[in-house]
Amino acid sequence: MKKILVTGGAGFIGSNYVRYILSNYPDVSVLNVDAMTYAGNPDNLADISDDPRYSFLKADICDRSRMREVFTDSDIDGVVHFAAESHVDRSIAGPDVFVVTNVVGTQVLLDVAREAWKDRYDSVRFVHVSTDEVYGSLGENDFFRETTPVSPNSPYSASKAGSDLFARAYCRTYGMPVMVTRCSNNYGPYQYPEKLIPVMIINALHDRPLPVYGDGMNVRDWLYVEDHCSAIDRVFQRGTAGEVYNIGGNNEKTNIEMVKTILNVLGKPESLITFVGDRMGHDRRYAIDSTKIQNELGWSPSVQFKEGIERTIQWYLDNRDWWERALERAKDWGFDISISQSLAK
Ligand code: NAD
Repeated sequence: MKKILVTGGAGFIGSNYVRYILSNYPDVSVLNVDAMTYAGNPDNLADISDDPRYSFLKADICDRSRMREVFTDSDIDGVVHFAAESHVDRSIAGPDVFVVTNVVGTQVLLDVAREAWKDRYDSVRFVHVSTDEVYGSLGENDFFRETTPVSPNSPYSASKAGSDLFARAYCRTYGMPVMVTRCSNNYGPYQYPEKLIPVMIINALHDRPLPVYGDGMNVRDWLYVEDHCSAIDRVFQRGTAGEVYNIGGNNEKTNIEMVKTILNVLGKPESLITFVGDRMGHDRRYAIDSTKIQNELGWSPSVQFKEGIERTIQWYLDNRDWWERALERAKDWGFDISISQSLAK
């Protein structure tokens, strides 16, 4: 049985990915290493925690000796690296931890994998999960391609760009089979309720104002989280070492369109929309050209936006306990996200 180390598996995308792997590959086991920061949620994997192919270790990716133990205690055949500080607004308020986790943590993980794998690079894989935000902001008619220069604008995207460059360097310098994925905004079940879609759903359900940054015309390309998981899996299975793969949904929406869609599905009035002061350095538009992964690896998104957003909203309606507990737990971390004005990732 092959063993994959998933970092950050208790977060939004990581937990969806762990579930995706366990349900699609009966011969693969998963070790989830997560530090359980405010964004790590034990409820995200409650349904599979008894699966004999799943194990969990609470540990920080920056802790070199613990990461070494992970590799010496068991034969790890692959790494899918999600663990990160992921919220732009938090990176503006406090950038330091973004450098530590996203840059230093990634380098530590790459380095212990290098030590452990140095005699078997031909039988292992390392996927570093990154973001389209590293490319910066677009004008009206262009698209991010893998050849677009990295030009990050927020401390979050700068830290992700830094980690991407370490991933590249570990392939170029040591010959390690590392691939980088850069995906657009994800949506779907288990997204922490500080990000745009859950914030809007939860505020709308409480008939509270829906805070929209600036003029609401910032454009994001939205991808259903399961499609992101299948794309990462495709890169893990078939990607070429050293390559970057863009992943997108061909599904551009302005923030205001997204918010109106949510209100419409929930049958709530648009009068709940409240424009608030813009985010500092707010990127105007992200749009992904995912031709490379489509042509070279045969991946394309399978969930249409209408279906994906309805499924997502239904999930939040059906799993009220999940997000009420998450809001409560946030208070233990000293913040009240039920009054958050956060938007987007
Ligand atoms: P998330 O914030 O929901 O989850 C992050 C997880 O990492 C949490 O479980 C947290 O506890 C864990 N973590 C944080 N610091 C850690 C550390 N030092 N050691 C071990 N674990 C740690 O994030 P997400 O939205 O699921 O994003 C996952 C990855 O995907 C990130 O790398 C992010 O940059 C990338 N990404 C996210 C999106 C998106 O729309 N959410 C889009 C593209 C790429």
